[in-house]
Amino acid sequence: MRAFNFSAGPATLPTEVLEQVQEELLDWRGHGLSVMELSHRGPEFMGILAQAETDLRDLLEIPENYRVIFCQEGASAHWDMIPLNLLQGRSRADYIETGYWSYRAIEEARRYCQVNIAASNRSDQFCAVPLLQDWRLDPNAAYVHYCSNETIDGLEFHWIPETGAVPLVVDMSSHFLSRPVPVGRFGMIYAGAQKNIGPAGLSLVIIRDDLLQPATPGTPFLMSYHGQVLANSMLNTPPTFTIWVASLVFQWIKRQGGLAAMEVRNREKSDLFYAALDRSGFYRSAVKRSDRSRMNIPFHLRDPALDEKFLKEAEANHLLQLRGHRVVGGMRASIYNAMPLEGVQALLAFMADFERRYG
Ligand SMILES: *Cc1c(COP(=O)(O)O)cnc(C)c1O
Repeated sequence: MRAFNFSAGPATLPTEVLEQVQEELLDWRGHGLSVMELSHRGPEFMGILAQAETDLRDLLEIPENYRVIFCQEGASAHWDMIPLNLLQGRSRADYIETGYWSYRAIEEARRYCQVNIAASNRSDQFCAVPLLQDWRLDPNAAYVHYCSNETIDGLEFHWIPETGAVPLVVDMSSHFLSRPVPVGRFGMIYAGAQKNIGPAGLSLVIIRDDLLQPATPGTPFLMSYHGQVLANSMLNTPPTFTIWVASLVFQWIKRQGGLAAMEVRNREKSDLFYAALDRSGFYRSAVKRSDRSRMNIPFHLRDPALDEKFLKEAEANHLLQLRGHRVVGGMRASIYNAMPLEGVQALLAFMADFERRYG
């Protein structure tokens, strides 16, 4: 029986990509060595990096005045790098609090500037996105930061905030490349790789040219976006293997029909899932319907005493890594781009059967 991995990250990768990695691992394109053993400054790897950027630009239709950076740091490092690079002498920044990851960014930013929490859904237990009309944005903020898909809370923005002249900075880690995105609406987009891009060990930054100024004096050299752009993402040895696998994922997405096709599939999978949750009296989703994530679906059993049994039986049915994050408990099914419809159908069939037996 085929296994399906519902982990939030490191997450499932397309089987086709894993097979391609296996096939080319020992002998990359007949060069007689592994891609892991290529010099990062040689023409072969430089070609891989350039193609990865070209494919990413095609997929997202990234405008000319934006740069792409391949960073070795995880998404978390950007919580420091964003203030260090984007404050540019200003003392204030706006942050939107919508759940665990946006809160972590806020805590880190407090080391560098006065953080204005312009909107928060804490009093709603992080179950709904705060309405734009209630945001108290500061016109003198250096930027507005938010997280457009809260991986743990299962909350997704299905709209893009309008922040006027203040640049919008977004953590898209867990729904990057899951749908088309008008990049031109953002000052900067960042995303960690291990959700929808590839293996862990890489994050991507897409940043508008005018925001690329030298970082605050004293910033470690590896943490400067300006420096990384000047060095073509090679201030030091980049994670070459991870970048190669990410490039194969970009090509896989293109073969699927690009981001519009990914969106159709992601909608289909998540609609199916939420419809099943809503029909059932045995399972429930706490998130407001209009703000539910298409990627990460936390859900609870009405009777938490059955949680361990559920997880054990799911695993026996090759439905893996469904335990919810410790801060929200219950279950979580992450159904990123690489999760096929059959995986969702298999999980829902198991859940219906479990409900029949224990409901
Ligand atoms: C996973 C995740 C992070 C943290 O990523 P690391 O690569 O572990 O630093 C940050 N933000 C979001 C939205 C995430 O899903």
